[in-house]
Formats: sequence, structure tokens, C-alpha cells
Amino acid sequence: MKTPTTAEGRTASDASTGYSNSASADLGAARTVLSLMRSIEDIGRDRARGGYSRPVYGSAELELRSWFLEAAAQRDLDVETDRNGIMWAWWYAPGKQRRDAVVTGSHLDSVPGGGAYDGPLGVASSLAAIDVLRDRGFVPSRPIVVAVFPEEEGSRFGVACLGSRLLTGAISPERALALRDGEGVTFAQALTTQGGRGDRIGADRDMLARIGIFLELHVEQGRGLIDLGAPVGVASSILGHGRWRLSAHGQGNHAGTTLMAGRQDAMVAAARTVVAVREIALEHSGARATVGRLQPIPGGTNVIASRVDFWLDVRHAEDAVTAVIVEKIHAEARRLAAEEGCTMELVEESVSGTVHFDATLGLELSVATGGSPMLPTGAGHDAGVLASEVPTAMLFVRNPTGISHSPEELCEDDDARLGTVALADALAHHAG
Ligand SMILES: [Zn+2]
Repeated sequence: MKTPTTAEGRTASDASTGYSNSASADLGAARTVLSLMRSIEDIGRDRARGGYSRPVYGSAELELRSWFLEAAAQRDLDVETDRNGIMWAWWYAPGKQRRDAVVTGSHLDSVPGGGAYDGPLGVASSLAAIDVLRDRGFVPSRPIVVAVFPEEEGSRFGVACLGSRLLTGAISPERALALRDGEGVTFAQALTTQGGRGDRIGADRDMLARIGIFLELHVEQGRGLIDLGAPVGVASSILGHGRWRLSAHGQGNHAGTTLMAGRQDAMVAAARTVVAVREIALEHSGARATVGRLQPIPGGTNVIASRVDFWLDVRHAEDAVTAVIVEKIHAEARRLAAEEGCTMELVEESVSGTVHFDATLGLELSVATGGSPMLPTGAGHDAGVLASEVPTAMLFVRNPTGISHSPEELCEDDDARLGTVALADALAHHAG
């Protein structure tokens, strides 16, 4: 059957979505989200782990930052990089004022061996949403800004959402500058290498005052939208979460000459703790506790580890329950370590309380995007940090595998386009 064509030459319906006239034109303009994603598909591929490794200020993330600058320039957006390393690409409203901005965007860094969409989809869809709005002939009455936040994953320096935390003052400059990556490079050194200045980072009230609202689009990192049968959803809340570093200290020694009795094996203390973490989490309904990273020192096959550092991620809707879980884990870890003749210390690296997004904004977003369902998420985002400062909302796009922080993370082309149009609708609603 031939699809009827309108006077403008646009198809009256879209075969893949059943959308009508204007929506079909929007979906056409939203194709740039696909070409933008394709143009970065070879940057930062991790041959060993699969997927992508794009740590902040590493070569891949820097290449993505250049890609963003180029894509913004092609759209005549005016980019400024602030003193915290956040890039802001402005589409001015007539009169060129830089205030009361409708800000969108996301991040370009990834976890080790992460998926293609976590972060970049939010950036690419923001740029493509501008294409959709321009295709409509839309002229913003408030500026629209695409932001890119550094170190959202915390995969290099250990603190998630480092850029937005610096911007809002949720982390002190002193603490941020002293953070070290796996190679011992401090955040201060990495910043200097990129032309940044340690004495200038930190809370930026002027920048925050220019943000009217913040809307972040992100690939969904769970199965919520699969189960709802919806391509796009609106976030209601972010589960409270935190990271702690546990260190088991024992006695390093020779694997062959040290008898099994009387060993002080830090690896055994750590391993028993990892099992206890799961058991303690299971005692609390809705809790999630994970050890996904472990570093034995010195790390030789024929060496009993003298120390093992491992990292704990705990999440629960009630912050008080998170605190109880961590305390229980710490107590049990100390007990298990003592049984192995070891000691155990626990250091908090970052904690974010449960975030409830702006209810009015969320509802408006749901209506503006054709009644998208609202759902909570267990993943942290820069939007969660900004929510304490400005009205904030998030759009999620369906991930058909339900898997994230993994090469298996996925987003169908049609859903990426629908998400882009939903974002364009939301930007038009607020900046029109
Ligand atoms: Zn992300």
C-alpha cells in the first residue's frame, strides 16, 4: 500500500511507528541522532573487554569532546567550557541572553567495557532534537543549551558525577583535586594536562543561576520500559546509592613456602566479605549491594596478597537503610578479617541520597511526550545531582536487552528517533 503524501511532500504516516504528518517529519529530522551515534562508533572501543572504555580525559573521551565541539559548531551553537570542564553549547534566544536556559545533555565518558548508548545517546539526541526544532522552524524564546558533563561514571577517579558535583559544590575542590586514578595520576594533574586550573574549580553559582531547568535523556539501564511496552518514559526518582572502598590488610608471603595454617591472607578475607555482602543485601527488601572491582596487592599468582582493595556499591530507596546495610557489612567484614588474621578498613567514597525529580516538570514531560509512563531508576545521573539546585527531569529510552554498563546495552534506531522527538517536544514546551 502506498503511503499518502502531504502537500509538503511528507508522508502522512510512518510505517515503523504509525505516527501522523508532523510527527513523521520530526522522525525524519531526528535521523541525525543515528548518524551522530554512528560517527562515534569506533571511538574508544575496548578490544579486551568488548564495548567501550572512555575514561574522562583519556584519548577516547577527548576525541569525543572534539566530536561534540564540531557537531555543535555545525549547528552554530556557541560552546563554552566552564572552569569545571563542563561544555555548554548555547542556542541563543533572540536578544542573546544567557539566562533562564532550558538545558539538556548528558556525558561522554564510560565505564570500562561499557555500552555505546550510556551517555552519548543523551548528547546525540540533544543535538538531533535541535535539528528537529530547526526543521519545524521553531525559534526559542529561552536559550536551549546542550551540556556535556565530565567523569559521570567515576570510572577514572572514583567519584561519580564529578563534574556536576563540582558545579553544585557537592564535592569540595580540595577533595576532588586529590582524587587519584588507577595509575596514581591525581585529578589535579589530569586537569592541568587539559589546560584546566585546580585553583579555579568548584561551585559555580553564576553558571547555576543561568539554568532554568535541566532535562536529561538517557538510555534506560533496566527493564522498566520493556515490561511497560513503551519506547520512552519519564524518571520519577533515582535510588539512593553510594560507593565505599574496603581494604583487607594481611601478611604478604610466598605461596609455596607458607603453610596453609596460620596464613594472614587478605584475599580470603576479601572473598568471604564479598559473599557476606550479598547475604546482607538479601536481608533488606529492595536493596542492591555489589562488589564489582577488586585489586590485590601485589597481585602475583605465586604471592599471598598483603592487601586487597575492593569497592562496594550499595543502593536502597531509604537512605537510612543504606546506612544500616553499610554498617552491617563493615562489622561483618571486620569479623571475617579477624578470623583470617587480617584487619579491614572501610572508607566512604561518595554517597547520594534518593532523588525525587520535580513532580510538576515530570508530569508536564509525560504529557508533552504523549503520555509517557513514569518510572523510578536504580542508576545515578548528573540529573540527580542537579535536582538539588534546579527543576530537573529525565527521559528514558527503552533498552531492549535491559542490560547496561556492558557491551550488550542496546537502543533500537526507531526508539532513538522517538526519544529524540520526545526531547524536542519537551524543549519546545519549555523554550517556546
Ligand atoms: Zn550514563
